[in-house]
Amino acid sequence: MTTEQRMPALFIGHGSPMNAIEETPFTAAWRDVALTIPRPEAILSVSAHWETDGSMVTAMKSPRTIHDFYGFPEELFHVEYPAPGAPELANRVMELLKDNEVKADESWGLDHGTWSVLRRMYPEADIPVMQLSLDRQKSPREHVALAKQLLPLRDEGVLIIGSGNIVHNLPLMHWHDDSPYPWASEFDAVATGLIRGGDLDRLTDYAALGEAARLSIPTSEHYLPLLYSLALRTTADPVSVFADQVVLGSISMQSVRIG
Ligand code: ZN
Repeated sequence: MTTEQRMPALFIGHGSPMNAIEETPFTAAWRDVALTIPRPEAILSVSAHWETDGSMVTAMKSPRTIHDFYGFPEELFHVEYPAPGAPELANRVMELLKDNEVKADESWGLDHGTWSVLRRMYPEADIPVMQLSLDRQKSPREHVALAKQLLPLRDEGVLIIGSGNIVHNLPLMHWHDDSPYPWASEFDAVATGLIRGGDLDRLTDYAALGEAARLSIPTSEHYLPLLYSLALRTTADPVSVFADQVVLGSISMQSVRIG
């Protein structure tokens, strides 16, 4: 696969799975960003919702749509995103990550971190998609080192998307009130500044960013996809932030475009 143009990399704050079926300012922003980038030959998604021991890639030809949530309207459980898989890209990722003993997976599919976003960006579901899991055993710094090895894919027509949320505290979330907790707004703004300033080191060492960071990142899986996207930035790439709003008190929808 070759293209003349280097693909951007994205981090998408996916928020509630309801974004898959409700029109929101965020779904409009996801659709708009897709319209401004070259059509990918394939998509590699790093979703907050697939954690494994050791790294894995989905390698099946037809990934299933996984409805990995509870307590949502029936309609959401009937949504299918029948994009083809990308077994060739899975092989390429395993080759690029050969020092990591990445395993090919035939049982996962596309979780809602992937399809709730892609349904808005590419509603035709006609671009091959694969997922790379988050290895629970890795430190944030090791995740960044792994992600950097994926950079050649940006020159091979592959759109890499990290899908999570920079601020993600479900236990403290409130369903019917969008006013953010002060610590959520605080950390979201700190992250924006560090993203714009290109300070991947401090973002990676988020545990040193204080109490607001601790409350915003009670577990790392929704934050780590951000580091994957930022690790793919080269010195030539501009970085921009979009859809930057905190909803439900403790979920930041802030999304980032690199390149
Ligand atoms: Zn999520």
